[in-house]
Amino acid sequence: MAEKRVILLIEDERTISNFICRALAANDYKTIAAATGKEGISLFFSHQPDLVLLDLGLPDIDGLEVLGQLSGLPRETPVIIISARDRESEKVRALDMGADDYVVKPFGVPELLARIRTTLRRADRIRLSQEVQKDRYRVKDLVVDCARHQIFVGDEEIHFTQNEFKILELLCAHSGKVLTYDFILEHVWGPYGGTSNQILRVNMANIRRKLHENPSDPKYILTELGIGYRMLEDAT
Ligand code: CA
Repeated sequence: MAEKRVILLIEDERTISNFICRALAANDYKTIAAATGKEGISLFFSHQPDLVLLDLGLPDIDGLEVLGQLSGLPRETPVIIISARDRESEKVRALDMGADDYVVKPFGVPELLARIRTTLRRADRIRLSQEVQKDRYRVKDLVVDCARHQIFVGDEEIHFTQNEFKILELLCAHSGKVLTYDFILEHVWGPYGGTSNQILRVNMANIRRKLHENPSDPKYILTELGIGYRMLEDAT
């Protein structure tokens, strides 16, 4: 039998913590729970979990500070933020600081489990260094061939501008993960590009139009309101 994956849960609200622990146990994860940031950091180092679920509103230290202490370590452990609805800007900061994903309270078990599975899969791929710079991505009938700079939807080849291609390539390289506006702007236009979200939105609108993507029912690229964009997981 495969060894159980270990998840460290840092969450001070007991009802939520119990609810998550039960759901994870029922789905064959081993969970370690901490009710404060300091306890969480200490359990992180003593147990070396495979993934961390981190609440941002903790009683002792700020969740962002916990995140800061956990990221940048040699063995990168993925972190999923558990966020309250009124903490939008913190959520974006956490993603920019290296958090892998987030769920917003109240969330359902299927959503949480899906996020955990996707995040663990991506972390495994990174560990095996298969993720970085693939030549080809496929999401449903969309194929992005980075080596040849070609995009196909079904049999139809789609022509992109250079920046549109860069955006799509970036989303593909991180498929399944939400990318913040700032992350995309910095990677496509450079750290001093001085570009605004507005330009990104215009480019995204063009990308969607060219991919025949209906923004209200997207097939490939999901909009994370106020945060950024998420490409559906690569199928190759
Ligand atoms: Ca809390």
